[in-house]
Amino acid sequence: MSRLRVALAKGRLYQPSIARFRAAGVEPANDAGRRLLIPSSDPAIEFLAVKPGDVPVYVESGAADLGITGTDVLRETGADVLEPLELGFGFCRLVVASPGSAPYPQLEGGITARVATKYPRLAQAHFGAAGRPVDIIQVNGSVEVAPLLHLSHWIVDLVDTGNTLRANGLVERETILECGAVLVANRASQKLKLEEYLRLMEKLERAGQPPE
Ligand code: AMP
Repeated sequence: MSRLRVALAKGRLYQPSIARFRAAGVEPANDAGRRLLIPSSDPAIEFLAVKPGDVPVYVESGAADLGITGTDVLRETGADVLEPLELGFGFCRLVVASPGSAPYPQLEGGITARVATKYPRLAQAHFGAAGRPVDIIQVNGSVEVAPLLHLSHWIVDLVDTGNTLRANGLVERETILECGAVLVANRASQKLKLEEYLRLMEKLERAGQPPE
């Protein structure tokens, strides 16, 4: 029997990911403590808890066979992995936002907009495809504060309820991507461990369906 290693993103997606596995009958060991490799009630499955941005890296390289990640992170990294299952949680949107008081999409004086974001590739691709030159400023958090501090004119960031944007005087201007959690799989290990892979996939799929 081969073991499947599943990379889970620490953070927002972690609890719903665990809940889906639990519903599928796979219980992570509760004495895991600070261990990063977590065994489960199914000897064929172990979990690995990593930073959200690292899930595609682990899965693409084969260090993990499977993973759960948001499509925002997945598209930003451009990882070459299979995406066998949409999981139906972690919904949000990647948007362009700017101060409600400032003109959009043109800035006064025709200057090039500076855009702060954790998603430089997706932001650049969005504006590039529209032939709109921008200067991308990469930050790793608290993106919404960038226009207030004149670090940038606009931001590209994730929005769920919109509360954070509103609280910082920002208005949603364009949607770049609708995002959600997906199961991803390493291409080679899906073939090499096909039996275990299909067994788990069926359980996860069934666990995500509403009860009859
Ligand atoms: P909200 O105020 O509900 O619109 O949430 C926005 C804040 O939560 C922003 O700082 C986002 O970066 C973050 N956020 C929203 N949805 C997600 C998600 N699915 N994954 C990670 N961060 C998120």
